[in-house]
Amino acid sequence: MPDQLILRVAVPAPLYNCFDYLPPDGVLSSSLLPGVRVSVPFGRGTRCGVLLELISDPGTEPRRLKPAYSILDEEPLFATSDLELLVWAGRYYQHPVGEVIANALPVRLRKGEPPVSVMEKRWQLTALGRQQSLSELKRAPKQVALLKLLHDSTKGLTQGQISNQLGAYRSVLQAVEKKGWVASIDQAASMATPAGAIEATYTINTDQQAAVDAVDIGQFGVYLLDGVTGSGKTEVYLTLARNVVNSGKQALILVPEIGLTQQLIRRFEKRLGEGVAVLHSGLGERERERAWHMARLGHATVVLGTRSALLTPLPRLGLIVVDEEHDLSYKQQDGFRYSARDIAVIRSQRRGCPVILGSATPSLETLHNAQSGRYKHLQLTNRAGGAKPAPMNLLDIRSVRLQAGLSPVLIEKVRETLASGNQALLFINRRGYAPIVTCHDCGWIAECRRCDARMTLHGASGILWCHHCGSQRRLDPRCPECGTDDLRSLGQGTERVEEVLSQLFPEVGIARIDRDTTRRKGSLDKLLEGIRKGKYSLLLGTQMLAKGHHFPDVTLVGILDVDQGLFGADYRAAERMAQQIVQVSGRAGRAEKPGRVLIQTRHPDHPMMQLLIKSGYRAFAEEALAERQAALFPPFSYQVLLRAEAPLESAPRAFLDEAYEQGILLANGRVEFWGPVPAPMERRAGRYRAHLLLQSNQRSDLQRLLPQWVNFLSGLKSARRVRWSIDVDPQEMF
Ligand code: ADP
Ligand code: ZN
Ligand code: ZN
Repeated sequence: MPDQLILRVAVPAPLYNCFDYLPPDGVLSSSLLPGVRVSVPFGRGTRCGVLLELISDPGTEPRRLKPAYSILDEEPLFATSDLELLVWAGRYYQHPVGEVIANALPVRLRKGEPPVSVMEKRWQLTALGRQQSLSELKRAPKQVALLKLLHDSTKGLTQGQISNQLGAYRSVLQAVEKKGWVASIDQAASMATPAGAIEATYTINTDQQAAVDAVDIGQFGVYLLDGVTGSGKTEVYLTLARNVVNSGKQALILVPEIGLTQQLIRRFEKRLGEGVAVLHSGLGERERERAWHMARLGHATVVLGTRSALLTPLPRLGLIVVDEEHDLSYKQQDGFRYSARDIAVIRSQRRGCPVILGSATPSLETLHNAQSGRYKHLQLTNRAGGAKPAPMNLLDIRSVRLQAGLSPVLIEKVRETLASGNQALLFINRRGYAPIVTCHDCGWIAECRRCDARMTLHGASGILWCHHCGSQRRLDPRCPECGTDDLRSLGQGTERVEEVLSQLFPEVGIARIDRDTTRRKGSLDKLLEGIRKGKYSLLLGTQMLAKGHHFPDVTLVGILDVDQGLFGADYRAAERMAQQIVQVSGRAGRAEKPGRVLIQTRHPDHPMMQLLIKSGYRAFAEEALAERQAALFPPFSYQVLLRAEAPLESAPRAFLDEAYEQGILLANGRVEFWGPVPAPMERRAGRYRAHLLLQSNQRSDLQRLLPQWVNFLSGLKSARRVRWSIDVDPQEMF
């Protein structure tokens, strides 16, 4: 076999290099293209990797290479440019390239299964189905909804489209199929035309039009769309996306994790037509994968999804939008710790297309880039449709008697709001019933056995739950220390506030929105639907309630407690607090009715709080940026965090000490090393944790250091006794 090329394969494994194989027996390497999956022997097992390149000189004796088992795809799943982006990302974030590429694949493909067919079933009404009188079906509302939906479609609907609109509908579909009212046909999936698109019911306003006009869809550019809450940023995205689609290209729209609601999906499908592929966790594995293929093959013209959608291969990419670009969910916090927002910028640059970063509360990094002229700054300063911004006021709660964290003034304002027929929204960023359970007699406090943390009480029934490791135990009515039965819970989470509210306002519907009430698929959408329909007048929740939602009848927003943000250990705490306040406040007075915002605080004179309330987010951000500059924190410097954890207390430190020594040697004085120090929560889930922070004024100094350093770390004996990870551009220090 003289001229056989060698296969260089990215294999998912915690190793930083790629692996070389001979082609499978009987396969000519010249017939292969990079981007196909390859099944290869690896260690004692088999792995599914992706062919990165074909090389003539591997540097190893070909006789020592093993042949791959088989080629799993007839055509590449990734174009070369998409592979190059993934390789770049692996290098930038110091994550094994095989795992990065596996991250970009749908689950089934990762496991080596054959791609699902893009042929898909489309459901249509039969003649019999068309004759059904819906009024006779009153007792089966789900069937009615389904029949109506199918009635309005001309080409029939896929299961994915049906579940996008209606949630879990498989059993209903089966029921009406049995009755002979609907039937399916297999069709080659085709979404390429923006068929079915409907115009907006309003006309785009001049500010929005100016923002659209400022974007050159023909070339690379980063745009910060800095628009106050309710200014109609989504309309700008929709218009740009449609322009891009009309020019024959694809648009990729990223939204924060909980921003992908049925309402938003419907809005996009309505305006951009059937070409919208949605990548959301509510879909089954196969449907999700089909949407992914539709994007990859260029059949889908718009891809809408959360963080991981960024890695979808798109042959005609012409626009990326990152909505709420400041949102933390764009940064993956484990495994491949990438920032989808930051890679979006790189991807657009490589592709030569624009990227829009939208927010009412831009991150300081992005704002800094806009101010220095690297990003173009587009502003929407007014609410669309003429609604006025809601004024913010501080409520001093020092020496005020609170009822589950609610001051008498706030309760009174809630009462007035409800009496006038409007909705009130209360924000508290803590779920559960109470954050502390203590013994009144001896002072014992319920703590997690595996973490340096207190257990949160859930349910008046009494389950203690650690929010850091997830361990649970039943609350024993007697104190484990002194045996008395005088245990008390202190402070409040959403559950306790809900309990008190239902006593104060027994006749009012209360919607509590937090991770516990929305765990089941579709439950968040149900609650949001209830809010829009007026079933609930009192809305209570964590940050899940703060983001992006449009509730026209909310006129009062009450913020129970944000003071932690003023004194947080993390230098980003104040930025996050300000973003949270502004985002929650943005839910008030979004339609014709004017709104107001009341913020309870024990530090009404704090200068940053004053600045935010009196002068707004922009003024706050300027000041916060000045502080960062003085301290040389990001965005005026760049950071990398090396974390280590182990059950043995001394192990992380031993590893980090060695890492430090070698790091200093390699860095030649161009990088600062802070630590090693114990993590803010030193013990978590039974492991001791510590970290070493690297900082430099130049990204390139860190990037130059990392490959050698990481290579050194992988070889350390002390590394085998810890779990360690590299976090480039860390967002959280915990
Ligand atoms: P943002 O994302 O900036 O907070 P949205 O895009 O959700 O704001 O828009 C807020 C509200 O304003 C929505 O109900 C939207 O339908 C409405 N809206 C957007 N643009 C216009 C416009 N040009 N005229 C009237 N209403 C508009
Ligand atoms: Zn006790
Ligand atoms: Zn714990």
